[in-house]
Amino acid sequence: MLDDRPGEQSIAPRAGTQSEVTPAGGGKVVTKSSPSAHGVTLRCGFCGQLNSVDLSRAAQRPTCGDCSRPMLLDRPVKVTQEDFDRTVLASAAPVLVDFYADWCAPCKMVAPLLDEIAYQKIGRMLVVKVDTDHAPDVSVRYGIRSIPTLILFNDGQEVERSLGFEPERVRGLVERVLA
Ligand SMILES: [Zn+2]
Repeated sequence: MLDDRPGEQSIAPRAGTQSEVTPAGGGKVVTKSSPSAHGVTLRCGFCGQLNSVDLSRAAQRPTCGDCSRPMLLDRPVKVTQEDFDRTVLASAAPVLVDFYADWCAPCKMVAPLLDEIAYQKIGRMLVVKVDTDHAPDVSVRYGIRSIPTLILFNDGQEVERSLGFEPERVRGLVERVLA
């Protein structure tokens, strides 16, 4: 059953929420720099092109290989279900994933914490947001029963998760994975 912990909101089945499964693959990846220990595949927020980004250079504002606009990594990045595996699981750096929904009030409490971590840990890890309404398969795969749920991934594996609003715990998890 659902966890009834404070600061969480259960995921209610919603009419009209259809699975938007797009076939995996497709689209070449633009590589601007040689693969590195901090390589991550990210979709450009402007043109949608997949880019291979060296996270260790994130603070220098890497640009999209296609449209030359900046890849903004000092803030959480939205990741779709289609891109989840190649962006989150294949990342060479740790990834903190926020499973949320636009209608979830407690999720809005978590948002500034994610902004803070993305800004402070730029170049060392990736912070992403997954809209559970549009990512039913990924949500089921990771057993997301309430939102917000934050999961920390490293080397494609779940390290730990946080349910609801637990800022000190989340900061501690991040420090540990980066130590
Ligand atoms: Zn672009």
